[in-house]
Amino acid sequence: MSDLRVIAIDGPAGAGKSTVARALAARLGLEYLDTGAMYRAVTFAALRRGVLDDAAAVAALARDVTLEVGEHGVLVDGVDATVEIRSAEVTRQVSRVAANSAVRTELVARQREWAKVRGGGVIEGRDIASVVFPDAELKLYLTASPRVRAERRVAEAGGDVDEVEAQIAARDSYDSSRADSPLVQADGSRVVDTTGMSIDEVLGAIEGLLQEQE
Ligand code: C5P
Repeated sequence: MSDLRVIAIDGPAGAGKSTVARALAARLGLEYLDTGAMYRAVTFAALRRGVLDDAAAVAALARDVTLEVGEHGVLVDGVDATVEIRSAEVTRQVSRVAANSAVRTELVARQREWAKVRGGGVIEGRDIASVVFPDAELKLYLTASPRVRAERRVAEAGGDVDEVEAQIAARDSYDSSRADSPLVQADGSRVVDTTGMSIDEVLGAIEGLLQEQE
C-alpha cells in the first residue's frame, strides 16, 4: 500500500472535509474520493428498495449495487442520485447503515481498489486514516467548533442553525461510539481546527504539513 500516494482526511460532519479534499486534490494533481457519498448511496438504495431494517439485505445490497462516485456526481445502479443522497431522510439513516460491519467491509474494499487503480488520491471520511489507509502519506483530522460546523451546513443547504447543530451532534456521537471503525483521531493524524479559518488558510496549513513530511 505504501507505493500509493494517499492523503487521508477524517473528521466530524461539517468540518470542511469535502471542500478541502477537492481543492487539495486539484492542487496535488490527484483524484478525490468522498467515502461518505458511498455510505449515503447505499442508504439511498436501501430506502428505495424498502430493506433498511434488514441488516443482511442491506449488506447484500452493498455488495451488489453499482456505485460511481466522482466529480460528475453519484450514480447508483446507473441512476443519478447526486441530490437524493443529501436528502434529510438519507442523512437521518446513514449512520445506522454505516454501523453495519458487512457494509463497511464491502465499501472499504471498494475504496482500496479505487486508490489502487489511480495510484492514490485524496480520500475523505471517518475511518480513512484509522482503518482504510493507515499508511497514508499524510493523515489529517479536520474539525471545527459545533456551531461553526452547523453554520457551514446551513449556508450550503439551508435550515435552522440550532436544529442542524443538534442533528450533526447526534450523528457525530453515533459515528464516534459505534463498535466498528468509529470516528477517531488516528495515530499519527495531524489535527487541523478550521474554526475561523478560510479555505485558503486551511489549504496553506495542510501544504505546510505536507512539506514537513518530506
Ligand atoms: O461525510 P458524510 O457526512 O457525507 O458521511 C455520511 C455518513 O457516512 C457519516 O455520518 C458516517 O456515518 C458514514 N461514514 C462512515 N465512514 C466513512 C465516511 C462516512 O461511516 N469513511
